[in-house]
Amino acid sequence: MSTVFYDGRALINGQRVNAVNEQTFDCLSPVDGRLLTTVSRCAQADVDAAVAAARSAFEDKRWCGMAPAARKRVMIQFADQLLAHADELALMETLDMGKPIKYSRAVDVKSAANCIRWYGEAVDKIYDQIAPTASTALALITREPMGVVGVIVPWNYPMIMAAWKIAPALAAGNSVVLKPSEKSPLTALRLAELALEAGIPPGVFNVVPGFGPEAGSPLALHMDVDCIAFTGSTRVGKQIHVMAGQSNLKRAWTELGGKSPNIVFADCPDLDIAVEAAVGSIFFNQGESCNAPSRLFVEASIQEQFLEKAVALAPKFMPANPLDPATIMGAIVDKTQMDSVLRYVESGKSEGASLLHGGAQALTESGGYYVQPTIFAGVKPEMTICREEIFGPVLSVLSFTDAAEVVRQANASVYGLQAAVWTRDINKAHGVARALKAGTVHINQYDEDDITVPFGGFKQSGVGRDKSLHAFDKYTETKTTWIRI
Ligand code: NAD
Repeated sequence: MSTVFYDGRALINGQRVNAVNEQTFDCLSPVDGRLLTTVSRCAQADVDAAVAAARSAFEDKRWCGMAPAARKRVMIQFADQLLAHADELALMETLDMGKPIKYSRAVDVKSAANCIRWYGEAVDKIYDQIAPTASTALALITREPMGVVGVIVPWNYPMIMAAWKIAPALAAGNSVVLKPSEKSPLTALRLAELALEAGIPPGVFNVVPGFGPEAGSPLALHMDVDCIAFTGSTRVGKQIHVMAGQSNLKRAWTELGGKSPNIVFADCPDLDIAVEAAVGSIFFNQGESCNAPSRLFVEASIQEQFLEKAVALAPKFMPANPLDPATIMGAIVDKTQMDSVLRYVESGKSEGASLLHGGAQALTESGGYYVQPTIFAGVKPEMTICREEIFGPVLSVLSFTDAAEVVRQANASVYGLQAAVWTRDINKAHGVARALKAGTVHINQYDEDDITVPFGGFKQSGVGRDKSLHAFDKYTETKTTWIRI
């Protein structure tokens, strides 16, 4: 097997550096198991160095002190750098994480670049306020960057998840220390290099790859980090809030897990479109999406017809080598995740759900980790596959007859990230959408997304919102200044 060389060293204060303890870990590709490179295994000393560099950059104002129009130009240049290196970044993301190259190029690189550009464009378009007080004194309400922002992201959309946080944090004038997932650290390191090339000063954007407890916890616990922005599992997200509270009460924002309900009524406007959306959205990114509609509720009167169409569509998503531009479902990120998905499949079978399609590892000639697109019908709310986030290509289908009951079941989850409702009846659509406890509700579609809209969850799907101008609030402090003239 050939080895592609990538630089896996940390990036601190504008320099590529080995971890202080000289430790590394292997970065293997889920596509075929090949060794991509070795990566710095950062720990406390590296996090300390990165935070010190970020603090120094913030205090000497080399970034936050730049005129907004100049900061905007650099951010836009940064976005352009991503597009100029689109093929390289797409290949790196696919090799590192297993998603189809078709989507790494058309979705991941483009969305990350668009996000950075959008927040860059906003830098010189945001105004502070004067409060309409009863006083003759002036009360200015201004927003200031927080200082040093720690960012911890997962492996499923490595570039996009990083961009959603670093772009508004940098645009607001902060310095950043990013810890990517140990399962997919490569594009984050490259992004920081491209940021330097675009003119973001050294020390402003640092990357410390490594494992959660070794590099993530020191960041979340650090007394000189002002804010920690986390995307990942609900289990770790809860620890992040505890660590923030235990240390310096740094601001903590979390985007966490999901088990999103997709409700299809018998009067949905177009059954074929509803089936395509239900199947396409759960199998997109190998089901490794926080907002995947993994619980599908179909009204009993159309269930048979719906399932027939869904099962007919499923083979289209049989996984194949993600480096092939025709592939639409690639590899699962690693063996641990694949085994976890397959354990959930076994639990579905043993708890009595009917397996309609898939249900096994997909063996490909290249090796690697692949799971068949899997559909279970006859799922009951109490089954494990209906309650827990699987984070793999497994669709759990339930049947319903009553609108109030399906809303109750849809809301019977610790999560509240997204939801969907399909019906021609505008009153029913609106009523159900209002009743669903989710940060985003889709009506008669599932794939709309835009940088201008907030993204985040109710309940244990997290605290705060990424994207849109709302994200600026996460990375700025509000100050009131009274002026007697
Ligand atoms: P994870 O929680 O295991 O890891 C996420 C990140 O946290 C990684 O960088 C990891 O190294 C780090 N980490 C782990 N333990 C840590 C600790 N003790 N202290 C500090 N950092 C620690 O999640 P994952 O498996 O990488 O990602 C999958 C999860 O992410 C799913 O639950 C998914 O729903 C969620 N997710 C949510 C969103 C969203 O926007 N809501 C988006 C993408 C993924």
